Amino acid sequence: MQTQSEFTIIGGGVAGLTAAIALKKIGRDFHLFEQVKELKGIGAGFGLAANAMQALEHIGLKDEIECLGYYIDSFAILDEKGKILVNPNTHVLSEKYDQKNFAIHRADLHLYLLSKIDQTQLTLGKKALKVDQKEEFVDVLFEDGTSHRTKFLIVADGVKSPIRQQLIPDSKPRYSGYSCWRATIDNTDLKLKKGTETWGNKGRFGLTPLINDRIYWYACINGPQKNPVFKNYNIRDLQKQFSTYHRPIQEVLSFTTDDQLIWSDIIDIKPLKHFSFHNILLIGDAAHACTPNMGQGACQAIEDVAVLMNELINQKNVISAFKSFEKRRIQRTKYITDTSKLIGEIAQWENRAFIAIRNKLMKIMPAKMNQRALNKLFEQDFMK
Ligand SMILES: Cc1cc2nc3c(=O)[nH]c(=O)nc-3n(C[C@H](O)[C@H](O)[C@H](O)COP(=O)(O)OP(=O)(O)OC[C@H]3O[C@@H](n4cnc5c(N)ncnc54)[C@H](O)[C@@H]3O)c2cc1C
Repeated sequence: MQTQSEFTIIGGGVAGLTAAIALKKIGRDFHLFEQVKELKGIGAGFGLAANAMQALEHIGLKDEIECLGYYIDSFAILDEKGKILVNPNTHVLSEKYDQKNFAIHRADLHLYLLSKIDQTQLTLGKKALKVDQKEEFVDVLFEDGTSHRTKFLIVADGVKSPIRQQLIPDSKPRYSGYSCWRATIDNTDLKLKKGTETWGNKGRFGLTPLINDRIYWYACINGPQKNPVFKNYNIRDLQKQFSTYHRPIQEVLSFTTDDQLIWSDIIDIKPLKHFSFHNILLIGDAAHACTPNMGQGACQAIEDVAVLMNELINQKNVISAFKSFEKRRIQRTKYITDTSKLIGEIAQWENRAFIAIRNKLMKIMPAKMNQRALNKLFEQDFMK
């Protein structure tokens, strides 16, 4: 069988679609396979922090994506009565690095990325099951019994990636201990302008404005994995759960209908030792899925693509580019996975005594210390 494309990308999420655009920009031949039959853009919102905007600038997509985002100039953490625990100054960092933080609707981003790809280079409804890797090529085997031969394979099929689990059997997703509900709703009457996240003993509740008068909210509650009780949770259950929390949480919930709810358990993967396997490369959540507590999963996927594009331009061949990519990405993504996990564990505490101590410490912590985590994220130039 002849090689059917130089590069093949598995997965049409943020990582896969951005990688496709980057390959197109540097004039490389590729084909992308996605399991769903229609990429219509689902989900709620997410943050595109300044580091993701910097990566998008390298890829040449920043200006257009900025227009789809809502500028976030602060993101306070509150206690359940609504008192500020921490209010990191993202403004200072944005000015220093000349990049702003945005919130974007996942569907807006997906549809924009999709519009940049030639539809002839995309096949939908193809679920990759496994690979047959050889020195000179890789055969990707699909659920429908067909296969595709490629010189180089970019695996971007998310946290549950079957190809990653074939290459590293010990890389099954791990459950965080909490589940998450989210929704995007109309903001015309609510008129919320600021992003906030509330930490209390019944769970966490986050709110972020989006463009076109919308907001997205999310709620994280502790419980067993695949909890049948959670599966049937509706708005009334969430209203009860957060009944003691400050305004406007009840109002936000009352503006949401049951059919707008998206529910999933929060999972990540233990940091891997390798992303590059000769002619196969893992990127995005397939390589380093993290819990959403730093709002960095998609941001890291975009950083991956900026670094990969840079390596493909500068290295003498693709195998060296994949190896060098791994070297540049392993430590940074490990830091984010580990730190996000830790933040999630502390944020989800239920014991009132521990919470009282935590909140006191958060309030008295000098602003400089609060800034440290943000600095670590932004100060390190991931393009070096
Ligand atoms: C509640 C929540 C909040 C979040 N908030 C933020 C945030 O604020 N900021 C942020 O940066 N990140 C956030 N994230 C993380 C972010 O959503 C992910 O990191 C990001 O979507 C990863 O992109 P990806 O393309 O690697 O994977 P995915 O988005 O999972 O895309 C994978 C794609 O591959 C396809 N696919 C899967 N398996 C196969 C297969 N076998 N064959 C073919 N195709 C396949 C899927 O259908 C999908 O289209 C959040 C995540 C959650 C759950």
